[in-house]
Amino acid sequence: MVPTSEPGDSLAEPPVVRALRDALPGGSVLSDPDQMEGYRYDRAMTVRPGMPVAVVRAASSAEVQATLRIASQFATPVVTRGAGTGLSGGSAAVDGCITLSTERMREVRVDAAAMVATVQPGALNAEVKAEARRHGLWYPPDPSSFEICSIGGNLATNAGGLCCVRYGVTTDYVLGIEVVLADGRALRLGGKTIKDVAGYDLKRLFVGSEGTLGVITEATLRLRPLGPPLSTVAATFGDVVDCGRAVARIMAASRPSALELMDAAAIAAVERVRPMGFEPGVGALLIGQCPVDAAEGAQLAAACEGCDATYVAVTDDPDEGELLMGARRMAIPCVERLGTVLIEDIGVPIPSIPALVGAVAEVATRTDTMIPVIGHAGDGNFHPLVTFDPTDADARARAELAFDEIIEIALALGGTITGEHGVGSLKARHLSAQLGSDVVELTSTIKRALDPAGILNPGKWV
Ligand SMILES: Cc1cc2nc3c(=O)[nH]c(=O)nc-3n(C[C@H](O)[C@H](O)[C@H](O)COP(=O)(O)OP(=O)(O)OC[C@H]3O[C@@H](n4cnc5c(N)ncnc54)[C@H](O)[C@@H]3O)c2cc1C
Repeated sequence: MVPTSEPGDSLAEPPVVRALRDALPGGSVLSDPDQMEGYRYDRAMTVRPGMPVAVVRAASSAEVQATLRIASQFATPVVTRGAGTGLSGGSAAVDGCITLSTERMREVRVDAAAMVATVQPGALNAEVKAEARRHGLWYPPDPSSFEICSIGGNLATNAGGLCCVRYGVTTDYVLGIEVVLADGRALRLGGKTIKDVAGYDLKRLFVGSEGTLGVITEATLRLRPLGPPLSTVAATFGDVVDCGRAVARIMAASRPSALELMDAAAIAAVERVRPMGFEPGVGALLIGQCPVDAAEGAQLAAACEGCDATYVAVTDDPDEGELLMGARRMAIPCVERLGTVLIEDIGVPIPSIPALVGAVAEVATRTDTMIPVIGHAGDGNFHPLVTFDPTDADARARAELAFDEIIEIALALGGTITGEHGVGSLKARHLSAQLGSDVVELTSTIKRALDPAGILNPGKWV
C-alpha cells in the first residue's frame, strides 16, 4: 500500500489538488514528489517523463468521473495509467498533469453462461485469465507482459501478443465498455451480445486510443472455451531471411497458435540470462505452436525444412514448449540489460517479412548498432530492439538514425509504425507519415469533439 501525503500542508497546494482532496476519499490523492516518482514512467527507456501535480488512485468509476470534472474545471491535463508497462511513453507523465491510476480498480466478474467477463480496468491480464480459467474458460489475448499489465492498458493500446496470430487481438474480445469522457460524463458502449450493429461501433474508437479520448472504467470481454494442448516446433536457421521465408510459407497455408521469431542477437541476449542451449552461429530461431491433434505441426516443420532450416524439432511436452516461449517472452528485459533500448513495433504484410528482416540486418551493420530482432512473426509484427550505450553520444545518434530508418523501411513495405504497443510519445513524430494529412485532420476533429480542451494525454500523438 502506498503511503498518502500529509494533509498538513494542503494550504500550500495548488487549487486543483485541493479540489481533488475535497472531492475524493482520503488516501486517493498523492502529491508528494517521492510518492509520485513511481507513477511518472512507463517502460519506454528513452522517453523523459514530466512531473505530475497529483496522482489520483481512483477506486471506482464515480471517482474517475469526479477527477475528470475537476481536471476540466481547472484545465489540467490527465494522463491515465494502468500498470505502466507500456513501451511507447503513453502513460509517461507530462508536467503539471494529474496522473490517474486505475491500480485500485481490480474487480473481475465472470458470467460463465454468457461466456463473458466484466472487468475493471486495473485488473491485470493474468488476473482475468485466472478468473476465467476457474470457470473452465479462457481469455486469449496474451501480451508477453500479461503477468504485469492491466486490462485497461491492453484496451487502450489494443494489445496483441503471442497467440493473437490464431485467436485475434484485444479488440476482437471487447463486447462493451464504460468510458468516462473529459467532461466527466460516463458512456456505456456495446454490451454482452456477440452481435450488435446499433449505431456506429464507437467502442472500437476508444480501443487503441491510448487515453486520448476517454478513460475506460469497465470492459465486458468475450471468453472462449479453454484452448487445446499445444505441440511446439522449434526451428533454427543460418540466416534470418530464410527464417522470414519460412514464416511467409507457413502463413500461406495455416494459422498456428503462435509463431515467434528471434534473431541471433536476441538469442544471444537471452542465452546470457537463461540458457536455452543454442550454439553461437544460429542465425535465427522460429518457435511455432499448434494444437497437438492437428497435422499442422508436421506441416510447420516441413515448411521450415523447405526454407533451409538447419535444425527442426517437434515436442508435445508442454513444459518444453513453455521453456522456449518463456525464453522468448524474456527477450525484451534481457536486451535491456545490454544498454538503452529504442523499441520498434513495426508491422508489415506477411509476404514482405523476408525483405523487412533482411533490411533491418543491413541497417544494424551500416549504422554499427546492435539491433536484436524479436517478433510475433505470424502477424508480421516485429520489435527490432535498437540498443545503445547511453553515455556515448555518437552511439545514441546512430541508434536514433537506425530507429527512423527502420520505420521508413516498414512504411515503404506498406506496413505500420506500430502493430501493438501504440504511438505514445516515442512514435508521435512518425504518425503523420503513415496516416497522411487527411486522416490526421479527421483524427484531430474526432479528438476535438470528445476532448475540446485537449486535456486527455496531451503532447502524445494528438
Ligand atoms: C517485457 C514486456 C513485454 C511486452 N510484450 C507485449 C506484447 O507482447 N504485446 C503487446 O501488445 N504489448 C506488450 N508490451 C507492452 C505493454 O505491456 C502493453 O502495451 C500493455 O497493454 C500496457 O498495459 P499497462 O496496463 O501497463 O498500460 P500503461 O502503460 O499504464 O498505459 C498504456 C496506455 O494506455 C492508456 N491507458 C491505460 N489504462 C487506461 C484506461 N483505463 N483508459 C484509457 N486509457 C488507458 C495510457 O494512458 C497509455 O497511453 C510489453 C511490455 C513489456 C514491459
